[in-house]
Amino acid sequence: MYGTSRRETRSTRQRAAVREALRGADGFVSAPALHTLLAAGGAAVGLTTVYRTLRLFEETGRVDVTRDGSGGRLYRWRPAGEHRHYLVCRGCGASLAVDAEVVERWVTEVMEESGYRAVAHTLELSGWCAECPEEHGSGTAG
Ligand SMILES: [Zn+2]
Ligand SMILES: [Zn+2]
Repeated sequence: MYGTSRRETRSTRQRAAVREALRGADGFVSAPALHTLLAAGGAAVGLTTVYRTLRLFEETGRVDVTRDGSGGRLYRWRPAGEHRHYLVCRGCGASLAVDAEVVERWVTEVMEESGYRAVAHTLELSGWCAECPEEHGSGTAG
């Protein structure tokens, strides 16, 4: 479909514009809402490019993703370098930062009790989001 030669500088600029719009947005935004924001700010970025760029950010872990009530995806820029834990949907890949203060407190206690320093930990929760049916490929049609 898109057989024309790709202009790398242009796509880089558009990606930066999408990133900045996402950073400036308050909370979660949909691709069309972000597209409107970009247009309001004078950035000529097509809706298809917005979708593609958000997908890229999602794949590279730069954004939190959630679903709205009708199954649409909502995006929020993920602050870099921040220590967070995420709840990830096994169905659609939506990811959400969760409050893991109890985990951090527990790690601190373990460090204090053990005398170990700079203890690192990773924790990811996975499940099915509200928009995804839990049983995939069960075979029986409704
Ligand atoms: Zn899901
Ligand atoms: Zn943690």
